[in-house]
Amino acid sequence: MNILIVDDQAFIREVIKQEFCKIDPEKQFHFQEANCGNTAINILNNRPIDPAAQIDLVIADLKMENGDGLAIINHMATTGSREIPLAIVSSSDKRTLELVSNITNSFSLNLVGVFQKPLNIDNIYKAITAKKAIVPEQTSQPHPTPACHAGNIASLINEDNLFLCYQPKIEISTGKIVGFEVLSRLCIQGDGFIYPDKFIPIVEENGLNCQLAKLVLSQALSQWHLFEALKGYRLSINISAADLLSDDFIDYVINEHLTNSDVDLMLELTESQQTINEDRALQAIAKLIINDIPISLDDFGKSYSTLDRLDSIPFDEIKIDKDFVSDLDFNPQHQAIVESIIALAKKLNVKVVAEGVETLAIQNRLQTMGCHCAQGYFISPPIEGRYLMAWIHEYNHKREQQYAYS
Ligand code: C2E
Ligand code: CA
Ligand code: CA
Repeated sequence: MNILIVDDQAFIREVIKQEFCKIDPEKQFHFQEANCGNTAINILNNRPIDPAAQIDLVIADLKMENGDGLAIINHMATTGSREIPLAIVSSSDKRTLELVSNITNSFSLNLVGVFQKPLNIDNIYKAITAKKAIVPEQTSQPHPTPACHAGNIASLINEDNLFLCYQPKIEISTGKIVGFEVLSRLCIQGDGFIYPDKFIPIVEENGLNCQLAKLVLSQALSQWHLFEALKGYRLSINISAADLLSDDFIDYVINEHLTNSDVDLMLELTESQQTINEDRALQAIAKLIINDIPISLDDFGKSYSTLDRLDSIPFDEIKIDKDFVSDLDFNPQHQAIVESIIALAKKLNVKVVAEGVETLAIQNRLQTMGCHCAQGYFISPPIEGRYLMAWIHEYNHKREQQYAYS
């Protein structure tokens, strides 16, 4: 089977190759690689006439410089490549994936599917081998999300179903990795991932938030103990304001912090207006800070109450919400908001992280504005634990080379 892998990240191409070989060791896989859409288009244009050497599958990332996934789709639609099975992979949200799926089907391409990163090669392989290419009528559900509801949520909060990804934060001026944010997914074997926006509200409604938070913390700490090199990077865990109301959870975090003193732990707090105003929540924040656990105020700018929070609580960091960042280069209102948040943070001596950094142009603009750290798809989508060390190695290697030439 000849597979053309198109992705601008070499480590992702490597992972895809390895996963294919693991899935079916009996089968012979031959891979061609392209690091951008334009190179892929050249390969497609120059492919041999010999049927044995034909490409059996194109796996293409959606977002790349020098020809993105849409350029490949356009090319395949307008040349003799329409019949080649095409799998689109992307870190974009579900709605964007649906849009791409609709576009691809309107061109009558042989779409295997549109798959969300982190990739599960097994799903792609199954879709090809079962000849499950999605037909136009089915496009509204390119990647059905498995069910999660009050009836099964308790049975999903356990070590087997919890799956953690890690997204890097970098210092913009140097490009150095400063830490990673832990992002949870629930995984139903053979059925795919459930994302936090879907399961966190159900978890909270059913009073399971502290159970989940404990599990996330303990699983992330275990990952940090797997490799000594990870200790050089801060580990940020998301907590919601509801978690602050549990004394048991606060004691658990403080205890974990004490017994894992070699891990630089941070909590990212997403506030909900009513909860955080409760005395108990403020006391819990004070207790964490007194015990040297730094707290980041997440989604800054989203809520009206955030300014007085900064006045009364010594946060270590604020994270500018991605909604203000991801269109920064085109949206003057968002530029003004981000600028004033950075100026305020400077006066209060608080570090600023911008999340949702999707392009180099946005990162450069943030640097000009004086923002310290960046996080977003431009640097990397959330990375599965098993690929974390490979990603760090490759990122640091690339960064060293950039510095050697600059
Ligand atoms: P958040 O803390 O604001 O996390 C950032 C979200 O933005 C993540 O979505 C991440 O995948 C996504 N993202 C990262 N880079 C980019 C980018 O460049 N552009 C865009 N458009 N999005 C980007 P995810 O993983 O779906 O998480 C959603 C939210 O769920 C998180 O928002 C966080 O508040 C919450 N969450 C995640 N894991 C946990 C957890 O273990 N516990 C709690 N309480 N909440 C969690
Ligand atoms: Ca966060
Ligand atoms: Ca956010």
